[in-house]
Amino acid sequence: MTTVDHLRQVRLGNLRTVLLALVDRPGSRADLAARTGLTKATLGNLTEPLLASGILVEEPATLAGMGRPSKPLRFHPDGPVAVGAEINVSHLAVETLGLDGETLERRLVPADMRGATESEVLDRVAELIREVTGPRKLLGAGLAIPGVVHDGIVIRTPNLPGLVGSPLAEGLGRRLDLDVELDNEANLAALAHLWPHHLAGEDFVHVTADVGIGAGVVLNGEVYRGVSGFAGELGHVVIERNGVPCTCGSRGCVERYAGLDVILREAGRRTLNSLRKALDSGDPKAARAVRDAGEALGVGLATLMNLFDVPTVVLGGSYALLHDHLSAAVQSEMDGRVLAGGERHTRLLASPLGEFAVARGAAGLVTRRAVQQPERLFA
Ligand SMILES: [Zn+2]
Repeated sequence: MTTVDHLRQVRLGNLRTVLLALVDRPGSRADLAARTGLTKATLGNLTEPLLASGILVEEPATLAGMGRPSKPLRFHPDGPVAVGAEINVSHLAVETLGLDGETLERRLVPADMRGATESEVLDRVAELIREVTGPRKLLGAGLAIPGVVHDGIVIRTPNLPGLVGSPLAEGLGRRLDLDVELDNEANLAALAHLWPHHLAGEDFVHVTADVGIGAGVVLNGEVYRGVSGFAGELGHVVIERNGVPCTCGSRGCVERYAGLDVILREAGRRTLNSLRKALDSGDPKAARAVRDAGEALGVGLATLMNLFDVPTVVLGGSYALLHDHLSAAVQSEMDGRVLAGGERHTRLLASPLGEFAVARGAAGLVTRRAVQQPERLFA
């Protein structure tokens, strides 16, 4: 490496450090210097081009104590943003996210995507993104799909068969003239609890129920993907060796006992809304259906926690909506089955992110990359 290359690498490393500190919270140059260990002169050099290009803004001076007035730096509210889009079986969702993690716009539209072709799906997603983002400068787009993806291509998506083999990232990128990154929805929902702010610690499992069950395993602050992207298939962990046949070809999978369709059927309800109303009015059949699902889910989660030694479970999506009726059964199974439970209580949380977790995670993929690879901000 030449000296020039070396200096460039040091500068990018310092820039990354400053941006990460600003993601944490705004701060004056003096405050940022104290938090990053960089000198005020270095900070001035690093922040100058960020201010000039409208990525950062300097707020009016505020008097802090006896010292000189400080002018906090923060990400510019009109600066570049990332967009995240979720393709689901029954809806499309889009969210735009600033570099500071603030949501700017979000929209969710019901849409039956089951029989849709690649170009039908991508045309609708591109149109929705254009509507939501308007003329804002975009850093890139993240795209979420309920399936396994590899290198921007959909490998497996049982509920959206028209998309298997589709180069979705490239197709959307061409429509929007943007860099697009494709990932699995469960991984992205987990990422939304990790970036830009840790909502559940460094190690956790995030689990949701839709047509199937999606789980994202986070270890040491990173989503664990496995060798080929198939990690986290909690829905197909077997809890009854000779149990109910599953769409995957196996039997007794967690999904056959704790999937949303099973809960609704057992509760005698057609929609999540109607199930929620039944629970609120004290319907015993609905409560039993959710409790039974919680027990099955707890058994599956205990297996996962024993394998990975993760301390925390986050119930997301529809599970978060059912949390008050679900968590006691899940917790009780985990307490009885997680070996580390004797040493350390397992934590069960309801996700605060609601139905936009996946789209937010998809946008977060882009803002995280921009902060980690700051050269992208000036591209
Ligand atoms: Zn299965």
